[in-house]
Amino acid sequence: MTDFLALAQPGVQKLSPYVPGKPVDELARELDLDPATIVKLASNENPLGPSPKALQAIRDELAELTRYPDGNGFALKSLLAERCGVQTSQVTLGNGSNDILELVARAYLAPGLNAVFSEHAFAVYPIATQAVGAQGKVVPARDHGHDLQAMLAAIDANTRVVFIANPNNPTGTWFGPQALSDFLARVPEHVLVVLDEAYIEYAQGDELPDGLDYLARHENLLVSRTFSKAYGLAALRVGYAISSAQIADVLNRVRQPFNVNSLALAAACAAFDDAEYLAQSRRVNDAGMAQLEAGFRALGLGWIPSRGNFVAVDLGRESMPLYQALLREGVIVRPVANYGMPTYLRVSIGLPEENARFLEALAKVLGA
Ligand SMILES: *Cc1c(COP(=O)(O)O)cnc(C)c1O
Repeated sequence: MTDFLALAQPGVQKLSPYVPGKPVDELARELDLDPATIVKLASNENPLGPSPKALQAIRDELAELTRYPDGNGFALKSLLAERCGVQTSQVTLGNGSNDILELVARAYLAPGLNAVFSEHAFAVYPIATQAVGAQGKVVPARDHGHDLQAMLAAIDANTRVVFIANPNNPTGTWFGPQALSDFLARVPEHVLVVLDEAYIEYAQGDELPDGLDYLARHENLLVSRTFSKAYGLAALRVGYAISSAQIADVLNRVRQPFNVNSLALAAACAAFDDAEYLAQSRRVNDAGMAQLEAGFRALGLGWIPSRGNFVAVDLGRESMPLYQALLREGVIVRPVANYGMPTYLRVSIGLPEENARFLEALAKVLGA
């Protein structure tokens, strides 16, 4: 029999597939549970459900499903450009921001070239890099966060891309404006910096830099954002990048002609305009974070301070068996051993009653 694994390009042979959070229906099937009783805090999804305005926009769009979507995403690009204070030529739309990361890899990486990213960083960076035959250079983390100095030192003549997430998933760690400007000032001009701001809408005050503020001074910067988290549209798959018009032109050459579907385009426009929904998402997140932190404190557990809609809690022992035990309680969270964090679980912030269910189940499985 022909070994088609051996025939795959070497980078692909060494890849492990992305492991998503366990779907509610899958756990319901496995344990014969009522799906309605299951709490899923595993994929950093918005617990509010979609914005009613986004739902209405989707309904309005349904009759047009026989048509291809607007391949240039005119309406969404115009809205994003206006709000971000850039030209529409600087906007790239993606089938989720995951798509943006892949477009960057396809356009700028190849065998013999490398991408630099941190230990404990988002799992898609190595996948996108190795999928195109390039090498991922993993830089050891510092206090679970990006060590930007060490990442600078890891850049070599073959580096074309640096992926940095602020805040990072799954750690929730972040860096401030000064750290970003120092970093950008020292990155060689031939290296594209992908600043992944998937959770930026949850940031408060000036603690985190707004990547868009740095675009004018750094032509090698691309800021990627998503509608999957604070905007509550994870299932529709829509994200975007803001960069120089030239980088956007390059990405446009390698994307699928219709990479963002019409329901996603319509819903994203509506969600982006729903300021009340976004404000509510933030309020629920802030309250939920405080609730989980208080719960961890009561259980004597440590956690990594987070600026996302999730938090990594340290169980002080191998977390996989506790993850399994939580599943049996009908609570799905995310084990992060595959991110090099075997004693942690990552928990997404839910509604107050979901957070409470999780904390009760956690106390039970810990025997506390
Ligand atoms: C969730 C996430 C994304 C994007 O997800 P999409 O649904 O593809 O937009 C990107 N980066 C990080 C760090 C994330 O956690």
